[in-house]
Amino acid sequence: MSPARADRLVELLAERELDALVVTNLVNVRYLTGFTGSNGACVVNRDERVFFTDFRYVEQARDQVPDFERIEATGDMLGAVAERLRGRVGFEDEHLSVAAHGRLVEKAPDGVELVPEGGLVERLRAVKDETEIAAMAAAADIATAAYESLSERGLAGRTERDVAIGLVRFMEDSGSEPPCFSPVVASGGHGALPHAIPRDVEIPRDTLVVIDMGARVDGYCSDCTRTLATGRLSEEMREVYELVLGVQVEALAATTAGAEGSAVDAVARDAIDAAGHGDHFGHGLGHGVGLALHEDPRLGRTAKGSLTTGNAVTVEPGVYLPGGFGVRIEDLVIVTDGEPRILTAFPKELVVIG
Ligand code: ZN
Ligand code: ZN
Repeated sequence: MSPARADRLVELLAERELDALVVTNLVNVRYLTGFTGSNGACVVNRDERVFFTDFRYVEQARDQVPDFERIEATGDMLGAVAERLRGRVGFEDEHLSVAAHGRLVEKAPDGVELVPEGGLVERLRAVKDETEIAAMAAAADIATAAYESLSERGLAGRTERDVAIGLVRFMEDSGSEPPCFSPVVASGGHGALPHAIPRDVEIPRDTLVVIDMGARVDGYCSDCTRTLATGRLSEEMREVYELVLGVQVEALAATTAGAEGSAVDAVARDAIDAAGHGDHFGHGLGHGVGLALHEDPRLGRTAKGSLTTGNAVTVEPGVYLPGGFGVRIEDLVIVTDGEPRILTAFPKELVVIG
């Protein structure tokens, strides 16, 4: 992993008047060290980068974590971590259990002050470098190809579950790691549930199907929703589709460096509100994506802060009519100081797949 990430973290430590940070959130550990195993932690300070894991991962860590001093700490990892602490040390309060914190306090040498400092590595993760963007673009391309594969295999008459399983198989056959999330395939009234679980129910003709999926490359997720038609649609379905598409395009244009996350959300929310569907758009407009499917920054009513060049965010307005149908259109984009770079290329004009 690029040592530059730990260097950037050291700059943040100085800003926060910390001597070191104990990193226990595995996603953050991976980001800083490159380690992909299931048990590891690291300590970063100005002069030292120390990585801890247990005996199962010693060999893997030798390959993946060349830039850190590596310590095998089988049994009592937190005890081993605690021994390496000096001075004013931040810990990831959103990821360390009360019991684990107690263990650090108990084992730390005298004079160590432990302070809650979650979110520092997350701040770094929110701004992607070229390698990360390339991985996310590759993941998005795989998902685009999976959408394209639907025109061959069809939708109507297949069960939602069969479609979902087929999409995962297609993505994995195309080079995806196990996806960050199971695809949503939700037809008709089921499409009104934003996080619907695919059912063993045949997809009917002449309805809308919400499909939300992403692939994963080098640990990086992609995330894309399209709402497809399986034949002739009612006037209402067409109207709502056009509304959501217009809103999505408008919100994309507002997704630019310097814009506040809450203001971008408001662009979409106000337009949906004005069309009389304010009550039918219950979730935030979008979220950051990276090694995790949901990370900083957020685009939502209560989102804090503004966008920066290099953020990777989704823009995904939706209108959900309970008992009727749902429409969501989601792109994954990289924020620039102009138009965002859209990674998800499948067409957004209504696509009909019988
Ligand atoms: Zn999604
Ligand atoms: Zn999403």
